[in-house]
Amino acid sequence: MKKVITLAAIALLSVAAFAQTFTPKEQELIDLSNQKWAWMAEKNADALANLFHENAQFVHMGGSWGKQQEVEIIRQGFIWYKKAEIHSQEVKFVEKDAIVYSNIHLTSEVGGNEVRFPFTVSEVYTKVKKEWKLGALIFTKMAEPEVPPVPFLTLNNGLLMPQFGIGTYQQTNEQAHNGVLAALRMGYRHIDTAHAYQDERGVGQAIKESGVSRNEIWLTSKIWPSEYGEGKTLEAIDKMLERLQVDYIDLLYVHQPMGDFAGAWKDMEKAVKAGKVRALGISNFDANDEVFDRIIAAAEIKPVALQIECHPYAQRKAIREKAAKYGLQVECWFPLGGSMSQGALFKDPVIMAIAEAHHKTPAQVILRWHLQEGFSVIPGSKTPAHIAENIDILDFALSDAEMLAIKGLDKEARFFNMDYEQAEQFILNWKIED
Ligand code: NAD
Repeated sequence: MKKVITLAAIALLSVAAFAQTFTPKEQELIDLSNQKWAWMAEKNADALANLFHENAQFVHMGGSWGKQQEVEIIRQGFIWYKKAEIHSQEVKFVEKDAIVYSNIHLTSEVGGNEVRFPFTVSEVYTKVKKEWKLGALIFTKMAEPEVPPVPFLTLNNGLLMPQFGIGTYQQTNEQAHNGVLAALRMGYRHIDTAHAYQDERGVGQAIKESGVSRNEIWLTSKIWPSEYGEGKTLEAIDKMLERLQVDYIDLLYVHQPMGDFAGAWKDMEKAVKAGKVRALGISNFDANDEVFDRIIAAAEIKPVALQIECHPYAQRKAIREKAAKYGLQVECWFPLGGSMSQGALFKDPVIMAIAEAHHKTPAQVILRWHLQEGFSVIPGSKTPAHIAENIDILDFALSDAEMLAIKGLDKEARFFNMDYEQAEQFILNWKIED
């Protein structure tokens, strides 16, 4: 029997990069099972026919049948098992037979439509003349990973926005691609990016690959000052849609309160009317009252959200009151203090003690505090372990006393401390390529 996986087939078979070790006896079966996926991807019906036992049974979602039918289905391409992403495998020996269990995400083409589902596949191998033959293959469809019940916030235009999401600041396209894809698989449904982060292409690719319906995802991006101006911003929004590979953006922020933001707003309103954007927001308009009042006065379509730095050391009491007056949802950047804080909040004794009491990490306590304060929160991460940790905050609650203790940490100390004039000079001079 052919035992060598061709290079083309290897490219189609992806085995999750984790260390699973097998005995040589088990490894033989694992190799055979993986070889089978590779042959399926290649539509190598002859090799498969040789592997299948004469009395083999195939139990699919749509029915069950024998060897000849399975081989013909593969040969004719009625079902094309294009790619098996293997997450974990196990081998059990039962008398003379061996059973291989594989947890996979399988991308198939059925009747010309591409579908991707998680399955547990059980394969029974039996020996005929000292050679393993596949006697049964059973697909069991797994439930999609449970989407944690992230609460929704109702915005002032009636739209529902998931209260918790992932931020993508300071990431390359590749990092944003990997991180957002992992996040979507873990149940995140809210993504925050910006043209200025230069990672929108990675974010868009992740959304596309995730298989999650576009209408289940809340996608936020931001227009940079070099794109501000009536006539100019609308064009910039079209380019943004192209980079993100989507037809619409859920929430579009005017990123900085500098330059012709009122002109940009006019075009952002046109984009809402054209169905390219669902809601508008103002980012960093806490800089001073003048810019805040000017954008509010200029807006025909009112902003739904205000994005600002906010965390336990800078709880932003005054601007929150102002935002509430205009029905603006406050969304927090640097919710964990940001990279500039060098983990200062994680080392705070009050936060550490609360974390210990709940068997949670300081980051989880801070994020839980954000939720209970009613903020929208978008912690940034590119590390799968942190991405998983950050969303694991829905199964506990901080007591009133704990909320009060964290309230007591407020010293209105921001980690980003550039004043308006300094920031203006830097921001207005920065043009983004692509
Ligand atoms: P953050 O407070 O979310 O902190 C991110 C830092 O914390 C990163 O260094 C990350 O590696 C680390 N981290 C994440 N999870 C962790 C965990 N569980 N344990 C330990 N460390 C952890 O700061 P941020 O990412 O800069 O801000 C959040 C998001 O807000 C950004 O990603 C971006 O989308 C947005 N943002 C907007 C603006 C704006 O001007 N509107 C400015 C900054 C950020």
